Amino acid sequence: MKCVNIMGIPFFYTDQSSFIQLLDERIQQKKRTFVVTANPEIVMKAKEDADFKNTILQATYITADGIGIVKAAKLLKDPLPGRVTGFDTMMGLLQVANEKRYKIFLLGAKQETLDKVVEKIKTNYPGIQIVGARNGYFDWKQNDIIDQVIDAKPDITFVALGVPKQEQWIAENIHRVESGVMMGVGGSFDAIAG
Ligand code: UDP
Repeated sequence: MKCVNIMGIPFFYTDQSSFIQLLDERIQQKKRTFVVTANPEIVMKAKEDADFKNTILQATYITADGIGIVKAAKLLKDPLPGRVTGFDTMMGLLQVANEKRYKIFLLGAKQETLDKVVEKIKTNYPGIQIVGARNGYFDWKQNDIIDQVIDAKPDITFVALGVPKQEQWIAENIHRVESGVMMGVGGSFDAIAG
């Protein structure tokens, strides 16, 4: 796997559409996939916080979310093809999920925001099966969310808890599912809810 190393973070050499295609292939192959779309804020946090760095290094793929990362790679004379953002990856995956009737699970944001996201997805992507939606304000020790994900067997779990919670939640829980993509999407639910 070709990667570009920026401050100890291996950025996967890919572009937005190839990446979505790759994730779709992994969904079909029933492979477990942890995606981190890392912006400069994540890179800086990883530099300062070794635990957080270890958390994100567990990802299957780390992509360059932010022009700052792409510019840094260019300066290092090891360019990346372009940005691969959390929001665009989520939108691309929703399109694929709609066409292929994939199951998705939504975790994060406030209940009111989440309700709007569920409604928008039902309206705009009728082929998608939403197999679970839980707001992002829960007691960290409770296990019922991952238990629900395990039972629902989503192809994709979008986790919108912000940095670093979303990466920590995925790293702690992904080993309990057999397959599917799990990715942190930051404020994307708020953006979709409008
Ligand atoms: N969020 C959440 N639970 C929390 C903290 C944040 O569900 O304990 C949600 C918040 O409602 C928002 C999303 O996480 O929808 C992203 O938050 P923010 O914009 O702060 O994160 P960033 O995109 O900057 O990582």
